[in-house]
Amino acid sequence: MTPMSAAYPIIDHTFDAVVVGAGGSGLRATMGISQAGLKTACITKVFPTRSHTVAAQGGIAAALGNMGDDAWQWHAYDTVKGSDWLGDQDAIEYLCREAPKAVYELEHFGVPFSRTEEGKIYQRAFGGMTTKYGEGPPAQRTCAAADRTGHAMLHALYQQSLKNKTDFFIEYFAIDLIMDDEGQCRGVIAICMEDGSIHRFQSHAVVLATGGYGRAFFSATSAHTCTGDGGGMVLRAGLALQDMEFVQFHPTGVYGAGVLITEGARGEGGYLTNSKGERFMERYAPSAKDLASRDVVSRSMAQEIREGRGVGDEGDHMHLHLDHLDPAILAERLPGISESAKIFAGVDVRKEPIPVVPTVHYNMGGIPTNYHGEVVNPTSGDPDRVVPGLFAVGEAACVSVHGANRLGSNSLIDLVVFGRATAFRVAETVKANTNHKPLPKNSTEMALGRLDHFRNANGGSPTPEVRLHMQKTMQANCGVFRTEEVLQEGKVKMDEVYARMDDLHVSDRSLIWNSDLIETLELDNLIGQAMVTMHCAENRHESRGAHMHEDYPKRNDDEWMKHTVTRFTDGKVSIDYRPVHDYTLSDEFEYVKPKERVY
Ligand SMILES: Cc1cc2nc3c(=O)[nH]c(=O)nc-3n(C[C@H](O)[C@H](O)[C@H](O)COP(=O)(O)OP(=O)(O)OC[C@H]3O[C@@H](n4cnc5c(N)ncnc54)[C@H](O)[C@@H]3O)c2cc1C
Repeated sequence: MTPMSAAYPIIDHTFDAVVVGAGGSGLRATMGISQAGLKTACITKVFPTRSHTVAAQGGIAAALGNMGDDAWQWHAYDTVKGSDWLGDQDAIEYLCREAPKAVYELEHFGVPFSRTEEGKIYQRAFGGMTTKYGEGPPAQRTCAAADRTGHAMLHALYQQSLKNKTDFFIEYFAIDLIMDDEGQCRGVIAICMEDGSIHRFQSHAVVLATGGYGRAFFSATSAHTCTGDGGGMVLRAGLALQDMEFVQFHPTGVYGAGVLITEGARGEGGYLTNSKGERFMERYAPSAKDLASRDVVSRSMAQEIREGRGVGDEGDHMHLHLDHLDPAILAERLPGISESAKIFAGVDVRKEPIPVVPTVHYNMGGIPTNYHGEVVNPTSGDPDRVVPGLFAVGEAACVSVHGANRLGSNSLIDLVVFGRATAFRVAETVKANTNHKPLPKNSTEMALGRLDHFRNANGGSPTPEVRLHMQKTMQANCGVFRTEEVLQEGKVKMDEVYARMDDLHVSDRSLIWNSDLIETLELDNLIGQAMVTMHCAENRHESRGAHMHEDYPKRNDDEWMKHTVTRFTDGKVSIDYRPVHDYTLSDEFEYVKPKERVY
């Protein structure tokens, strides 16, 4: 067999560090690494400011205390409780302690935050954010630039990266990692989508910042580009992913379209009703009501729908009311969602409720890392063993600060805190312009072998058909409510979907903007993660955070207070475990002992 590299000429690059992804996490890492004087490349399949972070509306959590008493320890407590005690408390301490610094930094980078009367950064209430270790009133902790916070962040961070002379490779699709025989990551292979040229990036550090894999499901708030490419690469490198059974459903996706209505809408006073016009959240979460955490609200909605109190012809969704709010507040603080409601639901929020339904929104699971962003390989025998040269940040990663359930506005802060931490670590461990060892001989074979295989795929199943089959299966069999029967059936059905990967049909054989081929590579990334998600969900016999298993409705700390780690090799899922870090970083934050999670 001729080596693939002969069939596909290769353009070589060497960098001190390569970041894959230009969302909030990728750009924060990129900016920091460039600033430290390292020669840095940022590879991104979409133009940086089109990354999904641009869609983040509600805001970014940090205990600044601009709108009342607050403390980072209270934020950390809420995050532990939100995670249903699956989050690692050392990482949570780091997140919440560093959060104010990371937000002020964004302010100085030029993010135009909304302001209070006195000119301080405006902060709104968000679900699960409280004061005094859950004993005090709700915290106003979520810093916002109107309802376009992610948009503002992404623009500021892109400008900062340009200022620090990062080399951007835009509309380049990373295919696979280059791993050597010692298990060190040595770079990444990418295709330039515009002309089909193949690029080999050799580097001392590779940072995966590729975002979530929401598109494994049928109804998702995430962009079509959220295909978990980093997770796919990690699985193919034989490494593990962590806590993949935990998928967050956002309570308020626009019915039918999936487009998000931010939790900030409820933070500003919006509330949900059922077909009887009842504010049903009062029954499920008497004190937090509509601002209980997302898993609780989503489940309550699903329960109402199942018990026949849904709205609409099919009784399958709920109403979100903003019509009682002052139109001036709506125009000032929620202009974007007023527009989305008009476009996607045909609703004037000043007069009518918005039809909403729980929609896949966030992946708590991902590539396991420590709080420096270093990827760990827990199936190596040491749960915290670092994979040299490989880092992961953002939604692609599982640090784990969100555990079994992420609190709203805790992702944007995760992006910048750990993007920054990763930059520090890379700068600490990589010396600028150090020589590169020769690459392994087969460095391009996996990436090009897959590329060539899919490019010539000539079976009977077009990519969009297989993708839809996967998405519908995940939605139906791995949703908000899970039972043994539904999940067992899900595993069988996903095996059937997976078998169709051998029968794919790609109709475009060219290499110039071949979206058919790129979508097939994305499907290949998605499907591995869909498979492990389904298997891990079936495997976890308890209910915790976003994973509500009806046959095991209680959290079971004795048996299940542990992270799931999973690998996918030759079409087979294997499952192992990793201890939850039950310690903090300092005595300024005391370990929060598990207790029942009520709001
Ligand atoms: C509609 C919506 C609203 C949200 N609102 C909030 C909010 O208000 N507050 C909050 O805290 N969180 C919010 N979230 C969650 C949060 O926005 C995301 O988790 C976060 O933005 C993800 O950022 P990221 O940097 O990990 O990845 P993304 O922003 O998704 O970026 C991924 C990057 O990776 C690149 N990439 C991916 N694959 C490849 C590849 N193969 N080759 C090259 N490049 C690749 C892409 O080009 C892109 O640049 C929201 C999410 C959604 C969907």
